[in-house]
Amino acid sequence: LALYEAKTAGKRQWRRYHPALQSGMVERHALQESLDRAEIESFKVVYQAIVELGSGRVAGFEALLRWPHSTRGMVMPEQFIPLAEESGQIVPLGSWVLVQASKEAVAWHAMLTERNPGPPGVALGAKLPYVSVNVSPRQFRDRSFFEVMQWSLDRSGIDPSSLVLELTEGLLLRRDDRVLKEMRALTELGIRIAIDDFGTGYSSLSYLREFPISILKIDKSFIDELGHSPQQYALVEGITHLADTLGMKVIAEGVENTTQRDLLISMGCPLGQGFLFSRPLDSESAQSLLLAESSGIPTHGTL
Ligand code: C2E
Ligand code: MG
Ligand code: MG
Ligand code: MG
Repeated sequence: LALYEAKTAGKRQWRRYHPALQSGMVERHALQESLDRAEIESFKVVYQAIVELGSGRVAGFEALLRWPHSTRGMVMPEQFIPLAEESGQIVPLGSWVLVQASKEAVAWHAMLTERNPGPPGVALGAKLPYVSVNVSPRQFRDRSFFEVMQWSLDRSGIDPSSLVLELTEGLLLRRDDRVLKEMRALTELGIRIAIDDFGTGYSSLSYLREFPISILKIDKSFIDELGHSPQQYALVEGITHLADTLGMKVIAEGVENTTQRDLLISMGCPLGQGFLFSRPLDSESAQSLLLAESSGIPTHGTL
């Protein structure tokens, strides 16, 4: 009888939750349908500064996708990227982001070198800002990815050394020779590879030796508790030293306050990204930020 009751209670519960569950599915379905109809030009790329923690100077920008929707307002990547990955739409969408972001970097460089003519590749004694683009595992594994990369370099005219690709640990979960070969070919072109959300995946650390990785982006979840938890501090410091030993650069993600920034500086973390320095900006605002910086106007912490 107890079992029977549990079963019927379960059933009743299922009934009770059914409408909510279904509405979640309906919503997902509606968003997918809208995604199917969306023109690629209706998307938008925004740019969030990555800064040198010591000087506050902009080292580069991460390109982040947005979907300004006619009825839903601004749809954020966490809502539509998983759908686009599932449907395969991430492949053309990702190629589009790659070209947009690369063209944008070319425009920054033209703007900065025009203002500060000097040796090529150098503006005001600082290196030109790079652009960092997220690449989903499905997009990376797509057979045409390498060709798309070459096409995107040609089409935008970006110097490959100004391009960083952000991959996630998921791609490196198992040893995959094709992935390794492709990563090597990309780095031979001069493109750098970053591991995004570092520390949140389940892959073995041995991939750090095997794959040609230049940058580790320490996930925001580690930075959040930096000022409150000695354990988190030790972890972030450990990752920073590990990266240093392996010849990689570290970027702290999600830096929101000066306490976090100062702790990161004290442990020798070179780079950071977060709302403390800049929100993701539209193309014009990112250019204004660079212009202000190149004119010596202090931008650091004022955004
Ligand atoms: P991500 O690559 O780890 O990007 C960083 C995310 O953290 C961005 O969210 C950014 O706005 C947010 N963020 C940065 N600093 C702070 C901070 O100080 N505080 C807080 N609370 N958040 C901060 P966003 O733009 O919503 O993107 C979310 C995720 O969507 C990205 O995480 C990335 O995984 C994915 N994504 C975005 N654009 C693309 C794209 O073009 N292609 C692919 N495949 N994925 C993308
Ligand atoms: Mg990223
Ligand atoms: Mg990240
Ligand atoms: Mg993230």
